[in-house]
Amino acid sequence: MTALRRFGRDLLQGFFPELCLYCGEKIVDRDFFCTACAPRSGFDVIPAENPKYRQHYTFVYEGPLQTLFQAAKFSGRRRARRFFTEAAARDLDNLNDGKSVFLALPSRSDFLRTLLKKSLPATRLISDAFQVKRSLFGTKANKLLGEAGRYRRIHESLLWAGGALPEAERYILCDDVSTTGATLGHAAHLLAKNSGVDETRILLWSLMYRPRLLKDFAV
Ligand SMILES: [Zn+2]
Repeated sequence: MTALRRFGRDLLQGFFPELCLYCGEKIVDRDFFCTACAPRSGFDVIPAENPKYRQHYTFVYEGPLQTLFQAAKFSGRRRARRFFTEAAARDLDNLNDGKSVFLALPSRSDFLRTLLKKSLPATRLISDAFQVKRSLFGTKANKLLGEAGRYRRIHESLLWAGGALPEAERYILCDDVSTTGATLGHAAHLLAKNSGVDETRILLWSLMYRPRLLKDFAV
C-alpha cells in the first residue's frame, strides 16, 4: 500500500472508524479485526476422515472468518483475498522445506490457484496432477448430497491426470475448504495408486477446515 493510500485510509478511519468484524466493539487494527480478535493463523493437525493421512488447516471455517472467506472466494473482495493470501503464504512457507511439492486440487474458481501461486515458487507447485471428469462441481452442492452420494460423486469425477511428478520427499495436497476430508483423501489415494508414492509421504492441507455439523447428516 502506498503511503498516500495508507494516509487516506487512516484519515477515513479517524472519521468513520471501522469496527472489528468479530467483537464489533474495538477499532480495526488491520484487515477486519482488532488486535485482540485477530485470528491466529498457524498449523494444527486434525485427524482426517481417512486416518491414513495427516491433515493441516490454517483457519476454522466458522463465524466471521466464514463470511470473510465467502467474500474472498465468491465475491472476489480484494481486501478479503489479501487477508487469506497472506495467511496462506505464511503457512505454506513453513511447509516449503525444499523437499516437498505441492499439488493443487482442481477448483472451479480461481481463488485456490491464485492463492497457491502467490504463496509458492512455480517449481514446487503442480496444478495439473488431477482432472475433473464431470459433476464434481455439479448443480447440487456437495454438502446437500448425503454421505454416500458425495462419496460417489468425488470418486466418479476426481481423476488422476496422468502426468509425471517431480521427485520429492513429501507430497502436499492442497484445497481451499475441507469438510470431511473426502476430496483430499480421494486425491491422496489417486496419488499413491498412480505414482507409487508411499502414503506416509502424503500430507493434506486446506486453508479452511469446516467442522462437520450434525445437520450435514440430515439429508
Ligand atoms: Zn475485536
